[in-house]
Amino acid sequence: MNKGKIFSAAFLSLILTFVSLILLSIIFPSCGFYRGEPVTVWKFIEWILLTEEVNIAFLIVAIALSYLVMGTWIRDPKAAILYPLLSFLMICAYLVYKEKVYVLFSSNPFPFITTSLIFSLIGAFIEEKRPKKTFFQKLEEGGVRIDPAYVKKVSLPIECPRCGVKIYSNARYCWRCLADLYHLIYAKNNKL
Ligand SMILES: [Zn+2]
Repeated sequence: MNKGKIFSAAFLSLILTFVSLILLSIIFPSCGFYRGEPVTVWKFIEWILLTEEVNIAFLIVAIALSYLVMGTWIRDPKAAILYPLLSFLMICAYLVYKEKVYVLFSSNPFPFITTSLIFSLIGAFIEEKRPKKTFFQKLEEGGVRIDPAYVKKVSLPIECPRCGVKIYSNARYCWRCLADLYHLIYAKNNKL
């Protein structure tokens, strides 16, 4: 489990929630809290931070969408539990540090925690069950024919089969003996 990925997922989810709140209020102006009045950026932030009175159904949709997307990105179900909690802690830390508001006591954190947890887990499970396709497989499905030698996975550095020198890229020719690496390595098991 990648700690850096969990942290960035937590951070990105908060930004994504913010963006989806704005998008939702543009797409459905009458369903949300927009009501024709201009809403400042700070208002959206206050809604996410649960410090301002909010149309809770609207906020939940935004949270659900964002954490679903991030759940599919993070894939790992264990990480999908950790990063919503981490993003909630980040909100709390911000409020305590900057606004001197104790969110656990001043507002109801229940919708944020449960929604983000459930949807990030759903996203992670969907992505885990889905068969993974490489970029090349998708291209082939689209009718693009690819030389199998290009699709072959090569772990660097490779060793030149002729002179034995280390090569730090998947170059076509050896830089020392000019051996044709395309035919010697990449195309070898593909019967070209
Ligand atoms: Zn060589």
